[in-house]
Amino acid sequence: MRILLINPPNCGRSIPEERYGITSIKKIFRSEPLALEALAGNLYDHEVRIVDLKVEPEALETELSTFAPDLVGFTAVTCEAQTVLKMATTVKELSAALVVVGGVHASCQPEFFNQPQVDFVVVGLGKLSLRELVQELERGNNQPQVPGIAKTNPGRQLLLIPRNYSNADLVDKMPPRYDLVDHYRPHYTLENLNIPLGLVSSAVGCPYDCHFCCISPITGGHYLTADIGSVIRDIKLLDHVAVIRLVDANSFGNPAAALKLAEAIAAAGINKQYFADVRADLVVRHPDLIKRWKEVGLRAVVIGFEEIDDGASATDEQRRPKRKKPPRRSRFSTASG
Ligand code: SF4
Repeated sequence: MRILLINPPNCGRSIPEERYGITSIKKIFRSEPLALEALAGNLYDHEVRIVDLKVEPEALETELSTFAPDLVGFTAVTCEAQTVLKMATTVKELSAALVVVGGVHASCQPEFFNQPQVDFVVVGLGKLSLRELVQELERGNNQPQVPGIAKTNPGRQLLLIPRNYSNADLVDKMPPRYDLVDHYRPHYTLENLNIPLGLVSSAVGCPYDCHFCCISPITGGHYLTADIGSVIRDIKLLDHVAVIRLVDANSFGNPAAALKLAEAIAAAGINKQYFADVRADLVVRHPDLIKRWKEVGLRAVVIGFEEIDDGASATDEQRRPKRKKPPRRSRFSTASG
């Protein structure tokens, strides 16, 4: 099957941009579409292309005519969702391709994409489920029942078979197809410094459920740690990149695994620098882990603070991960009820 995976163009306005006029964040985070590269990695027996419309905003129509895909897959965060619906209409007007939408917005509000120009909505991790969908479609099954993927049903309730996400969904034995965006790589740099930036995932999801955060539905509240050997492999695949951003929403969320990864980086003699998003309480509780990561190249962390008043700090009960929390419900029904 010919599969075209699309990173939407810069669109919509983020809250910092809308409220405070800060436009630099989009530039700082201009980086490769790792989620699409990961999907492509598990579609190894198909002809896959990635088009990054953040780099080539006008490339969609050309790709549709030259590649003639059988299936077009979009990813979208919330501020990209409207644009993706419009582009899905373009795909339907110019081709016979099936349209599949996944990503953060589809995972948090799948019914948003229950529209005629969309055929399937992927909820949560899709590296394994998208492959399962493609296999069913190739067998001629037009009504595939794949857990984690909903067939759209415009005007009626979206039916989704829940998926119990596990480490199997990481499919970490299959590396991301970094090579599919090699021609875009000069654009994936740290703004102003012009330093090439590469993305690696070492864990997915989060056991916490901060009320403002969209991460929990991606894995149904599980924190899934990638195999250390596969993380080392991915870092090495980015051999021409000196700075790696760990894209995990909550890096080092499994401190024991994080320490093993640091030791594996040291043992492999890898000399790179790392950015990561970590929780403040992780830094406070595991200073030796942060120190070890600094020794192997950690240079900056992003930490969100909800309070800067010690008197307002969370109780132990509030800090404890909710490990058995079910996925957040939204206004769509599931096939199981
Ligand atoms: S700890 Fe971070 S990733 Fe986890 S739910 Fe809170 S904000 Fe989201």
